[in-house]
Amino acid sequence: MSEHSCNYVNCQNRASYIVTFDGRHYQLCKTHFRRVVNAMTKIAVIYGNSKLEDLKVRKERGRIRIVSTRKVSKEKFLKHLERLKKYEGVKKRYVASFSKTSKS
Ligand SMILES: [Zn+2]
Repeated sequence: MSEHSCNYVNCQNRASYIVTFDGRHYQLCKTHFRRVVNAMTKIAVIYGNSKLEDLKVRKERGRIRIVSTRKVSKEKFLKHLERLKKYEGVKKRYVASFSKTSKS
């Protein structure tokens, strides 16, 4: 394993990001970093918030796979996204709100 390649299983890309899970650093390429962000976005859309602890690292053949510890169904995500769009003006192709700010 090269020092600067993505730690994700089956990935040969160059790492561009370092993500910390449980105090350990993992190198991720742009694609897999985006996947982590997307997973957190989906959790946030469905549950109202998300944090890095909602994801966990699963070791696989000396590399890693990042999985969600909260249930994320596509149907639920799309349903909640529809609802969010009405109130918060979430753009269809770009969702980046992780925190609940509507409660005030
Ligand atoms: Zn990767």
